[in-house]
Amino acid sequence: MKIGQRRSKQRELILEELKGVTCHPTADELYELVRKRISNISLGTVYRNLELMASTGVILKIESGGKNRFDGNATPHPHMRCTECGKVEDLMFPVNVPVPDQLEASGYKVTGCTIEYYGICPDCKNIC
Ligand SMILES: [Zn+2]
Ligand SMILES: [Zn+2]
Repeated sequence: MKIGQRRSKQRELILEELKGVTCHPTADELYELVRKRISNISLGTVYRNLELMASTGVILKIESGGKNRFDGNATPHPHMRCTECGKVEDLMFPVNVPVPDQLEASGYKVTGCTIEYYGICPDCKNIC
């Protein structure tokens, strides 16, 4: 197999694993999953492919809580983050965010908005 083919095969597998989970893994967490399928893959390869796919809009990068997390669902959707354990979950109901007139007046054409709520998840709340 040519190197280029192997690279895109690896990217496909990384994307497949990411789409298969809903926990918004960090690169390290995803690496652990992908490694079960490609035992000789390096953490650097996983990082590079995630950054590349995020920059081309194939996946979402969630920069929050000091860690980058990745989401196989590239359509912007609201998230809920636990400030105790750091997990990020999707909200299963739509959230309509108004676009203030001031934003339009600033000359920008607003094309999207990311929403992240944060707080303490039910699991962590029970421990506290
Ligand atoms: Zn929690
Ligand atoms: Zn998500």
